[in-house]
Amino acid sequence: MSYDCIIIGSGTSGGVLAYYLTKAGAKCLLLEAGKAFEAKTFPQNEMDYSAQMFWNGGLEFNTDVTLAFLRGKCLGGGSVVNQCLLDRFDDIAWDDWRSVSNIDFFTSAQMAPHYDEIESKLSIQEIPERHFNRNAQLMREGFEKLGYRWKPLRRGQTDCKLDEGNDCIACLGGCHRDSKQSTLVTFIRWARDAGLEIWPEFHVAQIKTTPQGVTVVGTQGEQTRREVSAPKVILAGGALGTTALLLRSGFKAKLPALGKGFFCHPQWMVFALFDEPVDAHKGAFQAIKSDDPRFRAQGFKLENVFAPPIGVAMLLPGFGKSHHELMKKYRFMGCIEVSVRDTSPGELRLDRSGRLLVHKKLSAEEQQRRQAGLAVIEEIFRAVGARQIIVPSLGLGLHLMGGCAIGADPKSSVINERFQLHGFPNIFVADSSIFPAAPGINPALTIMALSHRASQAILGA
Ligand SMILES: Cc1cc2nc3c(=O)[nH]c(=O)nc-3n(C[C@H](O)[C@H](O)[C@H](O)COP(=O)(O)OP(=O)(O)OC[C@H]3O[C@@H](n4cnc5c(N)ncnc54)[C@H](O)[C@@H]3O)c2cc1C
Repeated sequence: MSYDCIIIGSGTSGGVLAYYLTKAGAKCLLLEAGKAFEAKTFPQNEMDYSAQMFWNGGLEFNTDVTLAFLRGKCLGGGSVVNQCLLDRFDDIAWDDWRSVSNIDFFTSAQMAPHYDEIESKLSIQEIPERHFNRNAQLMREGFEKLGYRWKPLRRGQTDCKLDEGNDCIACLGGCHRDSKQSTLVTFIRWARDAGLEIWPEFHVAQIKTTPQGVTVVGTQGEQTRREVSAPKVILAGGALGTTALLLRSGFKAKLPALGKGFFCHPQWMVFALFDEPVDAHKGAFQAIKSDDPRFRAQGFKLENVFAPPIGVAMLLPGFGKSHHELMKKYRFMGCIEVSVRDTSPGELRLDRSGRLLVHKKLSAEEQQRRQAGLAVIEEIFRAVGARQIIVPSLGLGLHLMGGCAIGADPKSSVINERFQLHGFPNIFVADSSIFPAAPGINPALTIMALSHRASQAILGA
């Protein structure tokens, strides 16, 4: 079988690219390291889905172990395990990207048609007030008492059956109702109907350029080595996956910026204990976010959030009896997260054995942003009657970005404005690895919009 395009990685970017390229008539092969689950086969509990649907069982850290990273490993990638909160970038984010990258189309107006196209394909809803759980109500009450601005979150979903008692927290291990608008149940499904071929459980180890195009080398299932070639290869393995693949394939020698400019919107979940049950895990466990220009100017945002029991247990302090006592109060906990727009880039490198290392330290400015956000959360929780506030020390990185920054200058960037690797016109990237800076806004909708734009560039190349 011969292919026009091979897409490596089936997440937020890969799924969208697979659809638009296949729909335009290109014969495409989609390669994915993870398994192909569906609503009926998603693992049934938190431990199993962490082990089976996340890279390294959901336990990845930066080198000084202050941040834990989560990234999906399954057909649909991050879009299957994420919260599907979909936001457009604002002018602040685009202006920053334009000035860092010197790419002219990074404006709200020029990206609008791509956002419009993606939004026309998905069911996106603001969480209605009648679906605010007690945790969201407490956050709203605190915001209003203190005069801060908030907004309902915008989520890709059809019908989560909340009125029938469904709890969306379960869909961090895949949505059992096919409501969450992951690429698995949208773009990949439509692309497959249009003729896309998919090889799940295919781990790509290396790519090599040839006079005819690009050869992809990998292992399928139980270590069966396979090679497959195409005139065009699109990398969509995410910030860590795509960067690691290019580093392992030896591209650093030609692209000095490869691996640099890693960002992750470090976030901290802050818990508060109340006298009455909060049941923050119930219903729409995320419903509102800060919408206050003062917070945006200070480089942080807040959202109500929660985690399933193993996640909460890992974040809470203490051992033995004291930890047990806290866990017994799971139902009495409120939780708000502060997410920081990081400004000091980390770096992705390989160690001698080829293992990816994430060097990312929090700068003084980022610490300050964190502190400013924590102070507001504390103020909010105190205003609504919290008895005790718990600030875990471990931060989380869920929005992994950069490593293959897009930009006009090949010395300081990896990808050009046509989404090609500088100097390698047959290799394309439009996933989260191309982010040249942290936007401070949920990235998934913009990854999809960029991937839509990239599909046009790839078809025209
Ligand atoms: C718990 C959680 C909640 C989140 N919530 C939100 C949210 O609400 N809103 C938002 O905007 N963002 C959210 N995010 C972030 C968002 O999911 C990611 O930014 C986005 O999915 C990144 O898209 P991507 O296409 O770059 O990579 P991914 O979606 O991660 O896809 C990469 C795919 O490539 C595969 N892959 C990698 N390397 C290889 C290889 N060598 N061979 C074969 N396959 C490979 C991976 O297995 C994966 O399936 C969340 C993330 C997490 C973990």
